[in-house]
Order: sequence, then C-alpha cells, then structure tokens
Amino acid sequence: MSRSVIRASTRLCGLIGDPVAHSLSPPMQNAAFAETGIDAVYLAFRVRRERLGRAIEGLRELKVLGLNVTIPHKSAVMPFLDEVDPLTEEIGAVNTIICRDGSLVGTNTDRSGFGDALSSSGFVPAKGMGALLIGAGDAAKAVGHFLAGSGMTISVLNRDRGKGERLALELGRLTEASAVTHDELEDIARNLSLIVNCTPMGMVGFPEGPPIDAGTIRPGMTVVDIVYNPMETPLLVAARDRGAKVVHGHEMLLGQGARSFEAWTGGKAPRDIMRRALLSILEGA
Ligand code: NAP
Repeated sequence: MSRSVIRASTRLCGLIGDPVAHSLSPPMQNAAFAETGIDAVYLAFRVRRERLGRAIEGLRELKVLGLNVTIPHKSAVMPFLDEVDPLTEEIGAVNTIICRDGSLVGTNTDRSGFGDALSSSGFVPAKGMGALLIGAGDAAKAVGHFLAGSGMTISVLNRDRGKGERLALELGRLTEASAVTHDELEDIARNLSLIVNCTPMGMVGFPEGPPIDAGTIRPGMTVVDIVYNPMETPLLVAARDRGAKVVHGHEMLLGQGARSFEAWTGGKAPRDIMRRALLSILEGA
C-alpha cells in the first residue's frame, strides 16, 4: 500500500540533524506507515546546532508523534527533553524522542538496533569474547554499551586517543575495556571475535579505504560496518576477502528504525517492508 492522501488527522514524525539530506529514514519509515495503515508521515528537517532548542520547542507545540535525532544533536538534545530513560542517560546519546501528551521522552534505539543487526547474522556475543570498537562518537557509545552489556572484552580504537580512553573508561565500569592504538592491533587480533566500525570512514564523501589494516581481520571473525552507504564498504570487502563474516550497516539502520517505529506507535514494525525500502535505494545506488 502506498500513501496517497495526507489528511488533517495525519501525524508528523521526523528526523532532526545537520546534514539530513542523505538520510534513508524517510523512505524506510514512510514504507512502514503505509504498510501498517498508520496515518502518519515522516520528514527530514535540517536543524542548525544553535537553533536546536527552538526547533524542539516548536515540535513539542506541534504535538508530533515522534522524532529521530542524528549528528550533531544526539547528546546536545538531552537538556531540552522532559525525561531520558536511565540506559540512554548512561550512554549519553538520544536518537529517538517519543512525544506523549506534550511531554518529550528521549531514548536510544541505536544500542538495541545494533543488537538486532548482530543477531540477524547469527553472532552471539558472550562474556570474555574480544571486540574491537573503532570510533568513540555517539554511535560507538551505543554500540559499546551493547557489547559491554554482553560482557565482551572491548578494545577501543579512536583517532582522538583521549576520547577513546574516556569511552574505554566508561565501558570499563561494565566490562573489561581499554583504549588501543593501530600499533597494538596485530597483538590483539588473535583474541578478537568481532570488529565494528563506528566511524564514517568508507562512507561516500569520507576518506576511502578501511579504518584499520586489513591484516587485523582473521578468518571466522565477524566484521560489522555501521556505514551503510555504500553497502559494500572497503572494510566489508576486505573482511570478505579474508574469510570473515560480514554484517552490513543497513541492518543496524533497520533495527534502530524498527524499534523507533515501535516506540512511537506501540505496534509491531514491518521489518521486511522496511528492509525492502532500504535495499531498493541502496542496491539501485
Ligand atoms: P560522531 O559522533 O560524529 O563520531 C564520529 C566518530 O568517527 C569519532 O570517533 C571520530 O573520531 C571518527 N572519525 C570521524 N572522521 C574520521 C576520520 N576521517 N578518520 C578517523 N576517524 C574519524 O558520529 P556518529 O553518530 O558516531 O556516527 C559515525 C558513523 O556511523 C557515521 O558514518 C554515521 O552515518 C554512522 N551511523 C550509522 C548508523 C546505522 O544505523 N547504521 C547509526 C548511527 C551512525 P574523533 O573522535 O577522533 O573525531
């Protein structure tokens, strides 16, 4: 079913960030609304950093159904909300806002959406298994908290070493975690079961090439790239060449989007339809 009429009753959902023009959330979420017959529409809004507070107040007054939040607002938005759930407070990044009777509640579906992507690949994280987390930004925080919650031993590699150390310290309250450098990768590689790229390296418009030396990747490892455009990133190409299992970035995008949809509507997300909407764009790109 495709949407043909926007009525006076149609509710608004949307994405706020800067930039947002590249986002695949509008086609994915609108496909879900059309499939489930929910009278809502999803749009993307470019919101400048210095206008974030005003944008949130306006959206609160308009009684939108819900919002997604992306770069650079995931932590900056927190003071403008009425409530943030405890796990999201701990992660320090909100990617989903639920609007209930004019009250704005922040949550994080990147964490569980990443978990969905991992389980769709058959990877089962367990205590003591080694994970290399590349990046220390908002997405890495959410992924790191998921991995830490599973008891994995986490090595954090980040361009800004201090930021990597801070994230490792934070995750170290939940599991064994430390910051590492590129020079240390060879030594830790044999203990890694999982590598996750949470930087934009390999994304269209960013530096080409994998974010680590391909020699770190061993057969049998699972390698996740949360970059979804292009679908086959340089890291995933290298991982497949070296006999590792790969998990594409759109699986996390789908997982977080499905969980946001469920938080806004209370209904089950039509994941197959949402995946099809994503793939029709990514495979045609
Ligand atoms: P962010 O908060 O801005 O963090 C960016 C991270 O990438 C930082 O660790 C930064 O390192 C690192 N980085 C940026 N440019 C780099 C470069 N040229 N070389 C090496 N490291 C670099 O962004 P984010 O929200 O975490 O998002 C990161 C990526 O994940 C983006 O590509 C985003 O599209 C993608 N993402 C995907 C999903 C999904 O559902 N698939 C969800 C969220 C995000 P420094 O600390 O040194 O600056």
